[in-house]
Order: sequence, then structure tokens, then C-alpha cells
Amino acid sequence: NISSQPNKLTSDFKFLQGLYSPELDERSCLSRYQSILYRKPSTHNPSPYLLSKLLEYEDLHKLCGPYTKAYSKASKRLKSGTRSTSSKCKYIIWVPANGLGNRIVSMAATFLYALLTNRVLLVDHGTDMADLFCEPFPNTSWLLPNSFPLKQQFGVTKIRHAHGFGSIAVNMSIKSQPTHLYLNLDHSDYDLDKKLFYCDKGESLLVKVTWLILLSDQYFAPSFFLSSSYKEEAWGLITRFYDAYLAKADKRAGLQVRVFQAQTTTFQIVMNQILACTMNEKILPETQTEESVDSEFRNKTSEAILVTSLHSEFYENLKDMYWTRSTVTGEVVGVYQASHEDYQHFGDNKHNMKAWVEMYLLSMSDVLVTSGFSTFGYVAQGLGGLRPWILYKTNGKKIRNPPCVRDISMEPCFHVPKIDNCQDKVKIDAGALLPYLRHCQDRKEGVKLV
Ligand code: GDP
Repeated sequence: NISSQPNKLTSDFKFLQGLYSPELDERSCLSRYQSILYRKPSTHNPSPYLLSKLLEYEDLHKLCGPYTKAYSKASKRLKSGTRSTSSKCKYIIWVPANGLGNRIVSMAATFLYALLTNRVLLVDHGTDMADLFCEPFPNTSWLLPNSFPLKQQFGVTKIRHAHGFGSIAVNMSIKSQPTHLYLNLDHSDYDLDKKLFYCDKGESLLVKVTWLILLSDQYFAPSFFLSSSYKEEAWGLITRFYDAYLAKADKRAGLQVRVFQAQTTTFQIVMNQILACTMNEKILPETQTEESVDSEFRNKTSEAILVTSLHSEFYENLKDMYWTRSTVTGEVVGVYQASHEDYQHFGDNKHNMKAWVEMYLLSMSDVLVTSGFSTFGYVAQGLGGLRPWILYKTNGKKIRNPPCVRDISMEPCFHVPKIDNCQDKVKIDAGALLPYLRHCQDRKEGVKLV
């Protein structure tokens, strides 16, 4: 019943080591203050260095953010094509690509890039991401104003490539430094930009450019180691679901099921894999093989299983299983699913809000099972500080043995790290260079921080 104890919000917590500025309006972002009530206390504390960087960043954002003198000067210069060498204000604009999980992990990585390079992060959320997140910084906004001069170009691949980092760096005939350039880092997009960016090439060019516009669907934060909120609407959906279905359970299990090859993989195969994993590893309670009246168990503990998936079959199957059979150890099991959207709807704000709510609810689990390779699951594990059990990607009829594996850290996997040493194209193994960077279990070419 933690949610009925709002007084647990002590002032110490509220202003977490100076990070939750009193200038932030608590009512404008309930999740920021209340989310702590829904999770076990985190064992991951920010380092003093990170805290000081974040506070410095807030000052920079206030100075340069939208609707400031500095911002209007910089956007006028961008319009007229004149460069400034002196301004303290440089920007990184994040542009969405792919589904919501991809977007959130890439936004997090872009923010880290902004911190590392002293740039101001502005985000182009568009209408399909409206009202999902809070404003993170006090007395300013992180939303790119609609009047931003190049906004109409962001979606035009041809322009993005022609004015991309790679094209500009390679095209030696361009003498004058550009006022802006695109970083096309989408996993399926333009390789030249990625080659330069991940190989620390052309950095002298990047530091001079006032406006960088970054498009990625990846959690590319590990690449830095290889080189030298929401508004009340979404929060209400989270807390009401949590309070109604999950809060009273003694144990909460989250199960995220993403079926990537629906044409070749039947739901039954995926269901078999889920059961093989969760029973073998004793993640979910085992059921009696025969129907039985379990009257000897009176002091029953309860477990809530939250299933998230585009499809309803897995939820139906589990619900029926725990309804028709009692559990061997006597727990009472409730199975819940918040939505089943059937397919990914692009450009739909309500659809994205459901996805965000479900990632968040998964993050409040005590134990988490996710589908390998899915950034949707990465968001949940990262938010919750959880090391999930990963269901291996299933293709066709074959289920791998074992069907799942425990993740090595809570960090998302970077799917596409560089494969050579940049200088003389000697192949490298990015997962074998540093003790804290290892290959991901759900994608052996990928690397993750541990
Ligand atoms: P990834 O493709 O698994 O890496 O994750 P993304 O989040 O980037 O893209 C998948 C998108 O499909 C999500 O953002 C949702 O729009 C939708 N989706 C996939 N799985 C679920 C789910 O379990 N629940 C909901 N509500 N939407 C989902």
C-alpha cells in the first residue's frame, strides 16, 4: 500500500542531492516525485561527478534553451547561413526514428552525448509523442520550437544524407564550415556518417558546427566507451493500472513478448518457449498437473504477472493456465495485460502512450522476462534497474536450449558497434577490448556496458 503513503516523500528524497530543483513544479510532473514509491529503492546512485555535470547542464540549457536571446540569435544565423565561432550555445537536436523503445534509448544516448560535448539537447517529439514525458530541466523547455527553420527537412532522407556528416566531411570543396549537419545514425541508414562518428573522425568539424541534428534508433552510449516524464496523462494510466492490479501482490513478474518473425513463428512456439523458460528457471509458479482443490493452503501469497505484447494470446494462455490449475506451492496468481494493439501503429500518440505505460509498468516488476533484441524491453530494464531473463529470438519452429538466459546487466544492448580499428581496417572485437564492455546475450555482434 505504498501509494497510500504520500508522506513518504521526504524533502530529502524530493530534492535528491540537488537534482530535483525546487524550481520544478511538482504538480506538472507527478511521476518524477512519486515513481520512487512504486519501486524498490535503487542501489544505483549517481556519482558526484555525474551530479555536477547534470547541474552544469541545467544552467547551460537555461542559458541557451528555446525562447532565450541566445536561441533566437543562433536560429537567425542558421536561417541566414552565417556561422558563429564565439557562441557558448551549441545544440544537438534529436529526431525520432522507429518505435518508442528505439526512440527512448536513443534519446538517452543523445543526452549523454550532449553532456559529454556541452551541447543543449532539444527534442522533436511531434504529435505522436505529445504528453508522454515531463519537461526535465527547470525553467526552460527541451522541446524544439515549431518555428525551427529546418524542421520541415528532418523527414527528407535525401536532404539528410546530402547534408550529413559523411558527405560534408568528405566533400573537401566545401571550404566554409556549415552551420548545421545531420548525423544519420539509424541502424539501417547511411553508413558513412556512422563510420566517421563511431571512429572519432571529423571531430574537429563537429565541434565547430552549432546545430547537429541526430537521427538514431539505437542506444549508442557504449560507443563513447569505445572511443578516446511524461505529463500527468501517462502517469495516471500507470498508477491506476498499478494500484488496481499489481500493488497488492506479494510478488510482481513482468513478461514482455515481442514476436519479430510472426510469419514464420507461431504463437504456440513462442508460448512453449515462455513456459520452458519460466518453469525451468522457476521464474513463475508451477501448476499442478491435475485439477485439485487446494484447500490446505490458507495463507496464500499472491503473485501478479503483467504481460505486455501486441498480441493477446500469451496473456490468454497464462490466464487460463493459472485459472484452471492451482499452483504447486499455493500462490494465487493473477495475470494482467493492459492492451493488445495487434500491430505497431506509426504516428499514433495514443498507441505510443500505451507502449510507454507498459514499459513503465514492466519496470516496476520484481522479476522481468523480456524478448531479446527488443528495445521495448531495454527501456523497462533500464528504468527499473533490472537484470532480466532474456528469451532468445525464435525463428521458425526451433526453440533454443536453454530457451532464455539471465542478462549480464541492466544496460541496453548496442546492436551495431564498429567492427574495425578505424585506422587500418583491422578487424576488432568490440566486446573483448574493455572489462566493462561485453557482448550482449541477445545479439552476439552487439556490446553492452556491464
Ligand atoms: P522494438 O522494436 O522491440 O525494439 O521496440 P520499439 O518500442 O522501438 O518498437 C515497437 C513498437 O511496437 C512499440 O513502441 C509499440 O508501439 C509497439 N509495441 C510492441 N510491443 C508492444 C507491447 O507489448 N505493448 C504495446 N502497447 N505496444 C507494443
